[in-house]
Amino acid sequence: MTNSNTVALVTGASRGIGAAIARALAATGADVAFTYQRDEVAAKAVAAEIEATGRRALPIKADSADAAQIVAAVERTARELGGLDVLVNNAGIFPAKPYEEFTLDEIDRALNIHARAAFVAGQAALGYLGDGGRIISIGSNLSDRALFGGLSLYNLSKSALNGFTKALARELGPRGITVNLVQPGPTDTDMNPADSAHAATQREFNALGRFGAAADVAELVAFLAGPSGRSITGAILTVDGGTNA
Ligand code: NDP
Repeated sequence: MTNSNTVALVTGASRGIGAAIARALAATGADVAFTYQRDEVAAKAVAAEIEATGRRALPIKADSADAAQIVAAVERTARELGGLDVLVNNAGIFPAKPYEEFTLDEIDRALNIHARAAFVAGQAALGYLGDGGRIISIGSNLSDRALFGGLSLYNLSKSALNGFTKALARELGPRGITVNLVQPGPTDTDMNPADSAHAATQREFNALGRFGAAADVAELVAFLAGPSGRSITGAILTVDGGTNA
């Protein structure tokens, strides 16, 4: 499978699953732009890894909570890398606490980063995506099964991607653009370290009894982005080690 001569944009890819997706897409031959929020040192390290493979990398500081910054990131990608073929909406946060404690600012921020950012990034990308274009969002297995308390805001904001993905797949199908949602389960990253105090519970739910790696999610995204994924659209694909089984 190859994505030669394609351009991808991955949001939130200075670390974790996003960084693994950026590496996986570069490994299939794509030039990769990616956003980050704070960690410029980590972003530069990911860019250097991509460039070492012979592909072009473009790190862009852009807060997914800010729609204008997202649109600017899409436009800069197309301008500097010569187009856009694959959009991956990955940037995310994990606001977990009792329902009654969430403030309006926290609610807005989670909805903006998870749901609105995907919506406006897709709109901006449509100016560049042609036949064969790809929109892939990263949701969560928790949208299908809330395994513990504290998830009201995370699930409100992530589950929006499920309906959005199906609606957009239907609308963009006639243009040859596929739209899919990948739902990771427990994946060892800074957001959800495999050695945290909450890890043991997650292992108990997991059919494989272990955390996944960021690369497990990234390889599926690369498959969907490549030519072999051409007939998969409107799909919600869960990579959770059987947590929701
Ligand atoms: P990490 O916290 O390890 O990494 C998050 C990445 O997103 C970083 O690159 C961070 O940038 C970036 N980011 C965070 N907020 C913003 C923002 N407002 N604007 C732009 N970039 C931002 O998370 P994961 O890799 O674990 O998670 C990736 C996605 O996978 C998320 O959407 C998450 O909800 C989802 N997911 C993760 C699971 C897990 O177990 N890890 C399980 C299910 C879903 P910076 O370094 O600059 O802060």
